[in-house]
Amino acid sequence: MDTPRDRGRPLRIIIIGGGIGGLCLAQGLRQAGIDDIVVYERDESARGRMQGYRLRISPEGERALRQCLPRQAQDLLTATSNKRHEEGLAAYDDQLNPQWAPAFDDPRGDAPDKVDAVDRVTLRRILLADLDGVVRFGKRFTHYEQVDGEVVAHFADGGSDTGDVLVAADGANSQVRAQLRPADRAHDLGVRAILSRTPRAGAIEAGLPEVLRDRFVNVTGSNGLRLALMPMVFRTPPREAAERFWPGLGFDDTEDYYMSVFSVHREVLGLPDDSFFAMTGEELRELVLERTAGWHPHLRGVFAHSEAEETYPLALRATLPVEPWAPGNVIPLGDAVHTMPPTGGVGANTALRDAASLCRALTAVTRGERPLLDAVAEYQAEMVRYATEATNMSLKIAKWSMQKIDLSEKKLSQA
Ligand SMILES: Cc1cc2nc3c(=O)[nH]c(=O)nc-3n(C[C@H](O)[C@H](O)[C@H](O)COP(=O)(O)OP(=O)(O)OC[C@H]3O[C@@H](n4cnc5c(N)ncnc54)[C@H](O)[C@@H]3O)c2cc1C
Repeated sequence: MDTPRDRGRPLRIIIIGGGIGGLCLAQGLRQAGIDDIVVYERDESARGRMQGYRLRISPEGERALRQCLPRQAQDLLTATSNKRHEEGLAAYDDQLNPQWAPAFDDPRGDAPDKVDAVDRVTLRRILLADLDGVVRFGKRFTHYEQVDGEVVAHFADGGSDTGDVLVAADGANSQVRAQLRPADRAHDLGVRAILSRTPRAGAIEAGLPEVLRDRFVNVTGSNGLRLALMPMVFRTPPREAAERFWPGLGFDDTEDYYMSVFSVHREVLGLPDDSFFAMTGEELRELVLERTAGWHPHLRGVFAHSEAEETYPLALRATLPVEPWAPGNVIPLGDAVHTMPPTGGVGANTALRDAASLCRALTAVTRGERPLLDAVAEYQAEMVRYATEATNMSLKIAKWSMQKIDLSEKKLSQA
């Protein structure tokens, strides 16, 4: 396949999906001096669907962000990251008796500026900084076609755009993947979860004990229910940090919060999926309170104070095995190629790693240093290796916390 340089012009890169991975790639390409890029995002605006939950950032994810973001955005990232560094996982039963928990090493140690967790909405706003002319909102990708070595992307509004490369960064339900690899799908692990957010002040008022306040807490209930509770305490509130580091970005006020994820196997939940996924935030909150009736009141208090409008139902899914796509001008990135359950806290980190790695590959192609197919094949070989490791680690933790998960081929193919 010709590189555009062979045709005497720079590479034109179309990115489908302005989520974590797609935006990080766009930032990295801009830093590398590549300007002929466009990101198409189905959300109508930067506010999007709020989904204001917390993301753990691994050493690999932080490295990728620092490689791709301009200095000012990195400062904003550090300033808005989680203040309380985690000392590993703390595990309890539902009466708050301590239990055994796996330990995790962080090679960054306790570096004062390390970024080990961020608010997802704040991260997305940082990733969008200075991309005004690059990201087109309200553009839902429907399909692509190959025309004379170029790729034409089509959108629901009837528009289209032509590029040399199309990056599929459109997440777990990727429409690009649906066209290119229709047989691929993330397997349903059978776990149903309720994701929610409780303002920190409300949780503390409800009696959350001191020992649980600044740690990643995992609670095992006797009735098959699990709770993961994670603090997000901003080093500097996002609005104040933006005023200091990037005036004009206009961040919203966001208070400190706890993210909670209740999970249960669907057999224990005993509700059909169509009822579960149709529940409102209030109904989901009531469901958790009903199912945790015997739990320690300090834990139930966290959920009683949760924000109904930030409460969502979820199914845990995983791509098994992670496989490369045929090397060409349609290139996968992030959840589109490797969906994994959030139990390992590495899905976004893996998407960020992809973004930094694909950025290096496309930069080399643009500079005429490598043919496109070689660069894409190498990017994918490495991506499959670390994404497989990340998926397996996430599955191991899902299995540790949810004994009912059956990872056998037969079960997964029925899911
Ligand atoms: C509850 C929960 C907690 C999590 N916690 C963590 C964590 O702590 N750490 C971690 O590393 N990961 C975590 N993850 C996983 C992480 O959120 C994902 O892995 C990550 O967002 C994947 O990034 P992505 O860029 O591939 O996809 P996304 O961030 O999902 O972005 C895809 C984008 O594509 C857009 N899009 C989709 N279809 C179209 C279309 N047809 N046309 C145009 N645009 C489209 C979407 O609107 C979206 O903006 C968590 C996930 C969940 C659900």
